[in-house]
Amino acid sequence: MFTPSPSLIVPDTELGSEGMRLERLGPNHYHATLAPSRGLPLVPNMLQFRCENAADTPVRIDVTFPVEAPRGKFDEYPHSATPDYRTYLPLEWERPCNGTGNTLHIPPTPWNVFQVGMQCPLPQKALAGRIDAVREHPHVEVSALGESIQGRPIHRIRVHDPAHTPRWRHVIVNQHPGEGNSRWRLMSMLDRLLSDDPGCAALRGRAEIDFIPMLCPDGPANGWRRVNADGVDMNRCFRMEGPDARHQTREAFLLQSFLESQPPHTLWCMHTWPGLTESILDGAGPEFSGDCGSIEDLHALFLQHGEGLLKPLSVREEPGGAETWNGGPRRRLGITTFLIEGGGEPAVPEPHEEAGWALLKILGAFWR
Ligand SMILES: [Zn+2]
Repeated sequence: MFTPSPSLIVPDTELGSEGMRLERLGPNHYHATLAPSRGLPLVPNMLQFRCENAADTPVRIDVTFPVEAPRGKFDEYPHSATPDYRTYLPLEWERPCNGTGNTLHIPPTPWNVFQVGMQCPLPQKALAGRIDAVREHPHVEVSALGESIQGRPIHRIRVHDPAHTPRWRHVIVNQHPGEGNSRWRLMSMLDRLLSDDPGCAALRGRAEIDFIPMLCPDGPANGWRRVNADGVDMNRCFRMEGPDARHQTREAFLLQSFLESQPPHTLWCMHTWPGLTESILDGAGPEFSGDCGSIEDLHALFLQHGEGLLKPLSVREEPGGAETWNGGPRRRLGITTFLIEGGGEPAVPEPHEEAGWALLKILGAFWR
């Protein structure tokens, strides 16, 4: 019987891994050596590749990152295989997370060509397809903050019903390019907001909401988990002195300029770490003193809408670091900011979509 021999392809124009070395050890068996990230030598670029000629065949990949005491361990999260960025097959690591050596097993699938990446990857072209699907909605305006260093648009989707004057402005943004599950959470908020749900229709009139689903669109094609082409951590680049193209990496300058041109009431920063999705309030803006309600009211909404999907709200005594997009804008602009974390696993979209829907319900219920 003829057994197909899968080929692992890197680079891939959508999901790659800069500097990764691949050796073929057998017909279905590879060894991948990950390279360090630009700017963060203890963090590996992500294990990402395209697999071709692979239908009905298992594939084994031994992965190493030859660095002592690595950070941002490559096997910290489950990975997934996807033929279309809609269907995801979760993949598990053979051994417990250690960051230096592990094995990924891909079982036989019906797909002849598929991509593999960390969490549920949602790279630039797949994101563009999702944006095209809502572009014609009468309450949607699609634009870009500008171009990334490698020339990709940083998409911005603004949602508002122009028949009404918005009372509130909200901005929802994903900073780290490797945290695909958080982009599923964010895109679910967008899709639900545009649904026929009566509460969402009312919210579109009451608020203007900007979605920036990937601040660093160069990341997935290069396997960068946290950084841009300058090797700058995309959540360590807010500038307390104000936006400045000479002293700030490009994507950060574009986002900060946008935020400061008309500061929103709230800023939601979408990330992942292990465990259930959790929301950390860096600080409450002036609307908490009367117009909307108290922090206790917000706590109650998290319990009401987040059961089984979100941890209870955490409130920081001091905002996060001034270089972060939750801590910095809170300190400099005095607005309400959230760090949304957790949800790093599982590597299927549905729980992250449900978490996004819960967050949108909370946003709509509190900022009335
Ligand atoms: Zn992050």
